[in-house]
Amino acid sequence: MKEIDTNKWGIIGHDNIISYLRVSLESHKFAHAYLMAGPAHLGKKTVSGKFVQTLLCEKYIEDISDDLVPCGACQSCKHLNKGMHPDYYRLELQEDKKNISIEQVRDWQRQLQHKSFLTKYKIGLIVGAEHLSIEAANALLKTIEEPVGNTIIILITDDINLLLPTIVSRSQVLKFSLVSDETIYDYLQMRDLEHKSIRDIAKLSFGLPGRAIEYLNNIKLLEENKAEVKEIVDLMSKPAHDRLAYLQKIFQKQDFINSQRIADDIMNNFLLITRELLLHKENSDNWYRLGFVEEELKTMANNIDKDQIISMIDKVYTWKDKVKQNASPLLFTEDLFLSI
Ligand SMILES: [Zn+2]
Repeated sequence: MKEIDTNKWGIIGHDNIISYLRVSLESHKFAHAYLMAGPAHLGKKTVSGKFVQTLLCEKYIEDISDDLVPCGACQSCKHLNKGMHPDYYRLELQEDKKNISIEQVRDWQRQLQHKSFLTKYKIGLIVGAEHLSIEAANALLKTIEEPVGNTIIILITDDINLLLPTIVSRSQVLKFSLVSDETIYDYLQMRDLEHKSIRDIAKLSFGLPGRAIEYLNNIKLLEENKAEVKEIVDLMSKPAHDRLAYLQKIFQKQDFINSQRIADDIMNNFLLITRELLLHKENSDNWYRLGFVEEELKTMANNIDKDQIISMIDKVYTWKDKVKQNASPLLFTEDLFLSI
């Protein structure tokens, strides 16, 4: 087996960000606010979790941590693992709320103003910073602009474009990118798994380690995802009314948020299929992801020209943006299905 350095925190990918944080830990020099940005399932919360736990671990505070890995056994580590550390304040969107309110931010700020109890640092984390209301974001600015003692703020967002530019410019931005299929594959290979499954997992995780872990814990989910891809491939060779009937069925009785999610899944699968079509068209020896529908895709690739495929891909990106901007998910998915 190939020897892989998945770094000491055992995280898949993001080596540049992790080295940056570890250098800060080594030198005990921290930014006042970090902004971790990038699509969901990349591992932002996992990275921030390891960073926070290392920072608050008694071994680190007492300067006896050789490898900058949290011990897991001290009081501080134990409190953190139970989710009740007195120097760590986490804020996120409440399930039934539309945004993170100014009251929530004020309460969080009040807690951060207390003297630290167990450790030298106080950490304030906001998960889903894109959900801050305008008033809440403005209130947060004050904390970022006027740091108090050893307080470190960590903001996590799936969409940096939705944040106030003043928050972004005052934070140390850590941009998370997709992780390569090979890195995910290498990581999975170190786990005791049947070979065929890990190849499929790596291929169908789209560079999202969180997705790979989800599949790892629930292989049924992977099979469902493959079945969804196959369904769309089959539909592509069926008449238009069959495609529309399929959409009517899956969008039936779904609320707007669910419809957006369904449309996004369909469009992602569609991108995956068209990308693969392009590879077949070019006879590329690139890593194919969809071995389970290879024959169907080869046949399709023979009947379509490259420009058509590229224009389909362009359209999907445009539609994805429109659905994000609250256009009707069903309408745009129907449009997509009629243009294939
Ligand atoms: Zn510890």
